[in-house]
Amino acid sequence: MTSFSLFQGDICTLPVDAIVNAANTTLLGGGGVDGAIHRAAGPELLNYCRTLNGCDTGDAKISLGYLLPAQYVIHTVGPIWRGGAEGEAALLASCYKRSLEIACQYELKTLAFPAISCGVYGYPNDAATKLAIAALLDGLESSQNTLEKIILVAFSDQMAGHWQAALASHHLSWTHY
Ligand code: ADP
Repeated sequence: MTSFSLFQGDICTLPVDAIVNAANTTLLGGGGVDGAIHRAAGPELLNYCRTLNGCDTGDAKISLGYLLPAQYVIHTVGPIWRGGAEGEAALLASCYKRSLEIACQYELKTLAFPAISCGVYGYPNDAATKLAIAALLDGLESSQNTLEKIILVAFSDQMAGHWQAALASHHLSWTHY
């Protein structure tokens, strides 16, 4: 059984098998959590990301964590919110599922997610966190699941509230990380 935890703070501080990055299609760094991860991981991360030829929205690619306490970074590209009729929900669900798939291919046990698309990409935060939990539960049903713990990361009190409401709406028990 995979358990869920909630962590409020900087995802870059977590000593987990992998942290997920809410990247953009270039994979060459940006603002928000992406910028924080690149700063904390050091320049080797950008050098490696240059070799990945970008990433499609809804897909994910893995790198080492370099100077981060996390061993790996799984870079995924969330959709930009354009009102909800442009496939945003399916793309956001795909980000969570592809990240899980890659984590399980690498036989990872602990994985931390930021609230993908909930910053500058503007996805309504309540809908995004509920969809995230549904997508994770769906993905975890795979027989390849190696994950023992998923850590949901909130950078603000408000986002912590959204994650808690989303966990409650799926009747999931969770712990503080
Ligand atoms: P996106 O472009 O996918 O919207 P952002 O980085 O702008 O990505 O925001 C995604 C979420 O990550 C937001 O809730 C934001 O507050 C949060 N965030 C920003 N920096 C960090 C960090 N260092 N650790 C964890 N979460 C962060």
